[in-house]
Amino acid sequence: MTLQDLLNKYGIAEPVCGSAIGLGWFPLVEDLIVKLIRLGWDKQLSQVKEKFGGLRFYIDNGDDAIFDAIGCTEAESFTVCEDCGTRRDVTCASQKGWIRTLCTECRV
Ligand SMILES: [Zn+2]
Repeated sequence: MTLQDLLNKYGIAEPVCGSAIGLGWFPLVEDLIVKLIRLGWDKQLSQVKEKFGGLRFYIDNGDDAIFDAIGCTEAESFTVCEDCGTRRDVTCASQKGWIRTLCTECRV
Protein backbone atom coordinates (compact mmCIF):
# COMPACT_ATOMS: atom_id res chain seq x y z
CA MET A 1 0.00 0.00 0.00
CA THR A 2 1.27 3.46 -0.87
CA LEU A 3 0.15 6.78 0.54
CA GLN A 4 -1.52 7.49 -2.79
CA ASP A 5 -3.63 4.31 -2.38
CA LEU A 6 -4.78 5.68 0.95
CA LEU A 7 -5.58 9.07 -0.56
CA ASN A 8 -7.43 7.45 -3.48
CA LYS A 9 -9.64 5.63 -1.00
CA TYR A 10 -11.01 9.01 0.10
CA GLY A 11 -11.03 10.67 -3.33
CA ILE A 12 -8.07 12.92 -2.57
CA ALA A 13 -5.82 13.87 -5.50
CA GLU A 14 -2.08 13.35 -5.24
CA PRO A 15 -0.48 16.55 -3.92
CA VAL A 16 1.45 18.53 -6.51
CA CYS A 17 4.37 18.84 -4.11
CA GLY A 18 4.44 15.10 -3.58
CA SER A 19 4.10 13.09 -0.43
CA ALA A 20 6.43 10.86 1.48
CA ILE A 21 6.01 9.35 4.93
CA GLY A 22 6.70 5.95 6.49
CA LEU A 23 4.07 3.21 6.64
CA GLY A 24 3.82 3.51 10.42
CA TRP A 25 2.05 6.83 10.13
CA PHE A 26 -0.57 5.74 7.62
CA PRO A 27 -3.16 5.00 10.36
CA LEU A 28 -2.61 8.47 11.85
CA VAL A 29 -3.10 10.05 8.43
CA GLU A 30 -6.18 7.96 7.71
CA ASP A 31 -7.80 8.90 11.05
CA LEU A 32 -7.02 12.53 10.30
CA ILE A 33 -8.50 12.36 6.80
CA VAL A 34 -11.73 10.86 8.13
CA LYS A 35 -11.92 13.56 10.79
CA LEU A 36 -11.22 16.38 8.31
CA ILE A 37 -13.82 15.19 5.81
CA ARG A 38 -16.36 15.11 8.65
CA LEU A 39 -15.37 18.72 9.44
CA GLY A 40 -16.04 19.78 5.84
CA TRP A 41 -12.53 19.75 4.38
CA ASP A 42 -12.46 20.39 0.62
CA LYS A 43 -9.93 17.53 0.11
CA GLN A 44 -7.35 19.85 -1.44
CA LEU A 45 -4.07 18.49 -0.13
CA SER A 46 -0.82 20.40 -0.70
CA GLN A 47 1.74 18.07 0.82
CA VAL A 48 2.30 15.30 3.34
CA LYS A 49 5.80 14.78 4.64
CA GLU A 50 8.08 14.21 7.57
CA LYS A 51 9.96 17.18 8.99
CA PHE A 52 12.22 17.24 12.05
CA GLY A 53 10.82 13.87 13.10
CA GLY A 54 7.18 14.94 12.90
CA LEU A 55 4.33 14.51 10.46
CA ARG A 56 3.43 17.56 8.38
CA PHE A 57 0.07 17.71 6.67
CA TYR A 58 -0.34 20.81 4.51
CA ILE A 59 -3.66 21.98 3.13
CA ASP A 60 -4.75 25.25 1.56
CA ASN A 61 -8.19 25.88 2.99
CA GLY A 62 -9.80 25.14 6.31
CA ASP A 63 -11.37 26.61 9.41
CA ASP A 64 -10.00 26.55 12.97
CA ALA A 65 -11.45 23.12 13.72
CA ILE A 66 -9.73 21.66 10.67
CA PHE A 67 -6.34 23.18 11.46
CA ASP A 68 -6.69 22.16 15.13
CA ALA A 69 -7.27 18.56 14.07
CA ILE A 70 -4.16 18.66 11.88
CA GLY A 71 -2.10 20.18 14.70
CA CYS A 72 -3.19 17.44 17.12
CA THR A 73 -2.28 14.69 14.68
CA GLU A 74 1.08 16.29 13.91
CA ALA A 75 1.83 16.43 17.64
CA GLU A 76 0.70 12.82 18.08
CA SER A 77 3.10 11.68 15.34
CA PHE A 78 6.01 12.20 17.74
CA THR A 79 4.68 9.27 19.80
CA VAL A 80 4.31 6.84 16.88
CA CYS A 81 7.18 5.03 15.11
CA GLU A 82 7.16 6.24 11.50
CA ASP A 83 8.36 2.89 10.20
CA CYS A 84 6.31 0.29 12.10
CA GLY A 85 3.58 2.27 13.85
CA THR A 86 4.25 1.10 17.39
CA ARG A 87 3.88 3.50 20.32
CA ARG A 88 6.29 1.51 22.47
CA ASP A 89 9.78 2.91 23.19
CA VAL A 90 9.42 5.64 20.59
CA THR A 91 11.92 8.49 20.53
CA CYS A 92 12.53 11.46 18.30
CA ALA A 93 16.26 11.71 17.66
CA SER A 94 18.88 12.44 15.07
CA GLN A 95 20.13 9.59 12.96
CA LYS A 96 22.88 10.24 10.42
CA GLY A 97 21.95 13.91 10.50
CA TRP A 98 18.26 13.26 9.93
CA ILE A 99 15.85 13.64 12.85
CA ARG A 100 13.34 10.80 12.90
CA THR A 101 10.69 9.44 15.24
CA LEU A 102 11.30 5.72 15.59
CA CYS A 103 11.02 2.88 18.08
CA THR A 104 14.11 1.18 19.48
CA GLU A 105 13.84 -1.75 17.08
CA CYS A 106 13.54 0.37 13.95
CA ARG A 107 16.39 2.61 15.03
CA VAL A 108 19.24 0.28 14.03
ZN1 LIG B 1 9.33 0.86 14.77
